[in-house]
Amino acid sequence: MRQIGHFIDGKAAAGGSGRSGDVFNPNTGEVQAKVAFASKAEVERAIASAEAAQPAWAATNPQRRARVLLRFLELAQKEANELAQLLSSEHGKTIADSKGDIQRGLEVVEFACGIPHLLKGEFSESAGPGIDLFSLRQPLGVVAGITPFNFPAMIPMWKFAPALACGNAFVLKPSERDPSVPMRLAELLIEAGLPAGVLNVVNGDKEAVDALLTDARVKAIGFVGSSAIAEYIYTTGCAHGKRVQCFGGAKNHMVVMPDADMDQAVDALIGAGYGSGGERCMAVSVAVPVGKKTADVLMDKLIPRVESLKIGPSTDTQADYGPLVTKMHLDKVRTYVDLGIKEGAKLRVDGRNFKLQGYENGFFMGGCLFDDVQPHMRIYKEEIFGPVLSVVRAEDYEEALRLPSEHEYGNGVAIFTRDGDTARDFTSRVNVGMVGVNFAIPVPLAYYTFGGWKRSGFGDLNQHGPDAVRFYTKTKTVTSRWPSGRKEGADFVIPTMK
Ligand code: NAD
Repeated sequence: MRQIGHFIDGKAAAGGSGRSGDVFNPNTGEVQAKVAFASKAEVERAIASAEAAQPAWAATNPQRRARVLLRFLELAQKEANELAQLLSSEHGKTIADSKGDIQRGLEVVEFACGIPHLLKGEFSESAGPGIDLFSLRQPLGVVAGITPFNFPAMIPMWKFAPALACGNAFVLKPSERDPSVPMRLAELLIEAGLPAGVLNVVNGDKEAVDALLTDARVKAIGFVGSSAIAEYIYTTGCAHGKRVQCFGGAKNHMVVMPDADMDQAVDALIGAGYGSGGERCMAVSVAVPVGKKTADVLMDKLIPRVESLKIGPSTDTQADYGPLVTKMHLDKVRTYVDLGIKEGAKLRVDGRNFKLQGYENGFFMGGCLFDDVQPHMRIYKEEIFGPVLSVVRAEDYEEALRLPSEHEYGNGVAIFTRDGDTARDFTSRVNVGMVGVNFAIPVPLAYYTFGGWKRSGFGDLNQHGPDAVRFYTKTKTVTSRWPSGRKEGADFVIPTMK
């Protein structure tokens, strides 16, 4: 059986804790590898390695740091096909979707390559007599990232690329369900010229995470995952004096106005609701048609599309989506569908018992579609994270606007309409962090920031874009007076600009 250890001090390190987890092939249901779970001592070794390597890395000028990232970009692009296959073999998403996962991560690496420009501070000449005032952005030191299973390439890169570019050393704790791609990315960074120790990867579970959360040498933690864990990491990390940003779960609504292009809206719902088996934090899981006629037309068009979704192994280039990540997750999603029926929602398409010939032990699930879902139901309130779309019928625009605004999650939302006034009003008033207009998955590009509101995000700053540079640096402000020899005598009053 293949063993996956850690990556410490620039090289692979076998796990020594005696604890490990199974890494499945979701297509077949087989265990394909064992991943080591790091002990506290192993995490401490990774932190020590990062701490030792960080000062020299911070002293490497930003342009040289950017060159390492540029070389990494080239190496990862050259290896994109192999990386995508590896990613799909552990996650279950289609190879085309894995390529997208890698590409969206590399776009943040491209952004981070602009670090010489991004790190520039401010300068005010002659702010007072002979006084210049300026600000510097300096790295924090050792920072850590804890990432989820659903984007095992993109989210680690969203974290480590800006952090490293800013001159920090990084300890990554990727998901224990699909750790191989993050491990390979660490090797590629070394090939690209990153000094040993500047990026370490520890695999594991709560024990490894708690070691990162409580170690005083770790100055900042970036987390992405489910909201309960996000909240735990935020409160624990803050209690230990760290800078923390945590991104959590979601329940993304897509409002369909009566004037929307219905075919475009249905295409968008099918892709955004069922792509990657619904295992995306920006997946649309709630459709909100406005008015009975819109709802009826939408259902008539949606039902045959959900029934004809093509589900296949992740290697099938014709498949719309592949298996879910684990049997445990598949069971959880099926249980939610059972619950929806009990709660009184109308299950119009039932994919619970879908079986794929030749892959009977794979973690496959057919598309499910609920109509008449009500806001008090658990299937509406909670994140399901599977190929299950709920339709909540709204009587009018104001009700459609209230639904995502009052939901406890606030990651993404979309509106489909041909009316500019409605789109503009919705964009301005909706209480959600990322908005799409006739665009179902509004994940901002690398040079903007990504972050949800309410229980989808804990902390003050977003991921990537300018916020990433703010998060991974501290600002120093310098007041400097030259010539130094000027004699004015002691002044006991606070200096002002009077
Ligand atoms: P998860 O919360 O189970 O795990 C995320 C990370 O936390 C993993 O590295 C895991 O090992 C670790 N972890 C799990 N339990 C822990 C515990 N008790 N203590 C400390 N650490 C623990 O999430 P997941 O299932 O891997 O990913 C899916 C979730 O991530 C969904 O809720 C999805 O919406 C969310 N997500 C959010 C975003 C976003 O940007 N908002 C992006 C992607 C995924």
